[in-house]
Order: sequence, then structure tokens, then C-alpha cells
Amino acid sequence: MELSFDATSKCRLTVDVSDVKQAFEFLAYAETVFGVDQCGNCSSSNLKLDHRQPQGYDYYSVVCKDCRHEFKFGQVKESGQLFQKGWEPPYESDGDSTQSSDDERETAQTASSTF
Ligand SMILES: [Zn+2]
Repeated sequence: MELSFDATSKCRLTVDVSDVKQAFEFLAYAETVFGVDQCGNCSSSNLKLDHRQPQGYDYYSVVCKDCRHEFKFGQVKESGQLFQKGWEPPYESDGDSTQSSDDERETAQTASSTF
């Protein structure tokens, strides 16, 4: 029998399954991968699927277009199946380095006024 699943608002998956158990397995897995429909940080539904291959490794995630938070997936070594890791804030090296230099400056000021 044929089974349809709306993976995103633009994409519908259609698969052939032989029985209800297979349908269940497909739906459970599809929910795991495509069930993320709201940002865990800003609750936006303006999301996009992202696939990158740095150094030959595959990275799968859902990215919020509004706040850049990223929902990451891990991969089971044996089967290659994806599992949910959760939302992570965007990586911003510039913002972090500015913050830490500010902290150092404050610490230096405090130290000089004490002596
Ligand atoms: Zn967001």
C-alpha cells in the first residue's frame, strides 16, 4: 500500500509499504527526522533543512532562518539512521571573542583600582 507523509510544507514523501508495521516504522522515523516544525529558541516555524559535508562527513540539521539556532541530528554508526540531538545556539566566534576581551578589561580595571 502507498503511504504519504508531508516532510515539509513543500515536500511530500510517498513510499510503498507492505503492511501496517512497516507503515508504523516509516512514520516513526519520518516524525523523528521531519517532525521538527518549530524553533526551540524563538518558536518560529521559518525553518530549513540543512545538509553539509565538511571533510567528507555528513551533517544533517534543521536551521531556524530567524535566529539561526540549529536542531542537530546524530547518526547511528551501524544503520546510518538519524537521531535527534536537539537545538543548539548558532556558532559565532566574533561575538564570543568580543565578550571575553570585555571581561578581561573589566577584570584589569578592578585589579588596578584595588591596588
Ligand atoms: Zn529561531
